[in-house]
Amino acid sequence: MTAKKKKDNNQSDSPAYKELLRKLCEIIEDAKEKGIDLGERNDLLKCRACGVYEDCAVKEGWVICDEYGKVLNQDRFIIIDSKEKSYHRNKMTYFKTTYMFICTECGAQQKEILRCRMDDDY
Ligand SMILES: [Zn+2]
Repeated sequence: MTAKKKKDNNQSDSPAYKELLRKLCEIIEDAKEKGIDLGERNDLLKCRACGVYEDCAVKEGWVICDEYGKVLNQDRFIIIDSKEKSYHRNKMTYFKTTYMFICTECGAQQKEILRCRMDDDY
């Protein structure tokens, strides 16, 4: 049996999905303007599907750059969900943050796990 199950039900190209993303961006922008705290994050994410990444520019602030470093938008990826865990071992605190996010350029939904640690004596 070599029957392959085709997995090309990628909805990120459909106009309806793009429209949904656009609306989502608008809602987030609107919420920010109203001063709603959406949980500021300092982590920079990268899209594994199309290669664009978030950066923090001196002038523009948060931007999204393409794989060559060209600024595409003054924007950030859309975070659907984030979880942070931390634990303590050998005078160090370890942090693990899991982000579920949507790339605003290509619409791919993905997961990114970021880890960092801090010396307690620092
Ligand atoms: Zn992308």
